[in-house]
This record gives sequence, structure tokens and C-alpha cells, in this order.
Amino acid sequence: MRKLIAGNWKMNCLKGEGIELARDLGMRYAQENDPAFDLLICPPATLIDAVGNVIAGSGVLLGGQDCHAEPKGAHTGDIAAPMLADLGCSHVIVGHSERRQNHGEIDLVVAEKAAAAHRAGLAAIICIGETEAERDAGHALAVCTRQLAGSVPKGATADNTVIAYEPVWAIGTGRTPTAADVAEVHRHIRAELCRQMSDADRVRILYGGSVKPSNAAELMSVPNVDGALVGGASLKAEDFWAIAQACS
Ligand code: PEP
Repeated sequence: MRKLIAGNWKMNCLKGEGIELARDLGMRYAQENDPAFDLLICPPATLIDAVGNVIAGSGVLLGGQDCHAEPKGAHTGDIAAPMLADLGCSHVIVGHSERRQNHGEIDLVVAEKAAAAHRAGLAAIICIGETEAERDAGHALAVCTRQLAGSVPKGATADNTVIAYEPVWAIGTGRTPTAADVAEVHRHIRAELCRQMSDADRVRILYGGSVKPSNAAELMSVPNVDGALVGGASLKAEDFWAIAQACS
């Protein structure tokens, strides 16, 4: 399966930095002869328009980091999925653990956001993953089962849905699960998706959590790992590009 390398810039980058980073990545991707991977940038909402202009024509994809479940209305500070589509986004991240933790987003809310993304013609990158306590208690697979059942909306297909397995304890910590642990969870996610969707074998399942150039090749070669969702290392063009190159 063609891999997807997605960069989640989170709440980082002022305009100048963001444009420079996007320009660098756009040039690298455009110059790559028949790239073996899709490259996606998810800047903060303030920069989506500017980044979209910079990467136009390069083949790099554009995404949002979150969307509201409603298409418009009285929701101060929120962004609707059609607004992201209007700016040229093809993807939106929903249910990131930072949204689940900091904004109290439960599975039902995540499913509603993903459904809103689908209605707007966007692919939803639905994030799931266990906390450290849940892993230590032996509940990692059960947590993923529960989150998949609750967060993946009806109507999800391989074309409009990407799953990102992001163990919460690996995000921004420099720690990663072993390749064997990643393989076990991704195999489990694939099997669970098969119960929910007819084309589950084509759904891309990304791994996220402290992916960096030094561990990308190993993580990306794990069966059922169809790409990466990258936070910190996506803020440096050289590092993000090195991660993407690990898929070639
Ligand atoms: C993320 O927040 O999606 C992420 C994976 O972060 P990091 O790569 O910094 O661990």
C-alpha cells in the first residue's frame, strides 16, 4: 500500500517559519521522481491558506488538525470541515489525544467530527491509542477496540478514512513501542476494521508517537504500518523528509 507521511505541526509556526518549512518540503516533493509516498502537511488553522498557496502544484497534500461536527453556526473559535475543504485541504485529523485530553472529546464527538469531514469530502485521520496506565494494565488492544468502535462513523471507507495509532505515552516523549508491539496493535486494528468496513484491507493505518529519522525505517517496515503521523519531527524539513524517505 502507498504510504502516507503526515506532519502535524500542532500549535507551532508563525507565518514566516511556516511558509519557509512548507516551501522547502514542497520543493523536495516536487523534485522527487515518482515519489513512493504521499506527503501531507497539517499546519495550524492560521497558516492553512498561506501554506496551501506555497505548496500548490507540488503534490504535497494539505490538512487541518481538527474540525467541528457542524458545517457552520454559532461555534466561536471552531473551524468547520467545509471551511477546510474550501482552502484546499484533503484531510483532517480528528480525535488526537491532545484533543481528547485537553478538550474532553469522547469517541462519540470524534465520530461526529469524522462524519462531518466525510460530508465535506475530506478524509478523516482518526487517532486512537492507549495511555501508559492502560498499556501497563494490559489493555492496549481493548482500548483500541473501544475507540475504533466509537470513533469510526458509519459510511467510513478506505477512501475517506485513515486510522492513526498513537500510543499516548509515546507522543512527544522520545519513547516508542517495540516493532513487535506496533505489529501486534496494527494487526489488531486491521482485524477490528474488517468487522466494521468491507474495504478494511485498503485502509491506511499510520503509526504516530516519537517517529524520527533514526527509527522511521524500522517502524515503517512493520506489517500493517501504512505511514506515519509525525509531530515534533515534522517541524524540521530535513527530519520530516528523512522520515518520508524511509518509505522509499
Ligand atoms: C503527534 O502529536 O501526532 C505526534 C505523533 O507527536 P510526536 O511525533 O512529537 O510524538
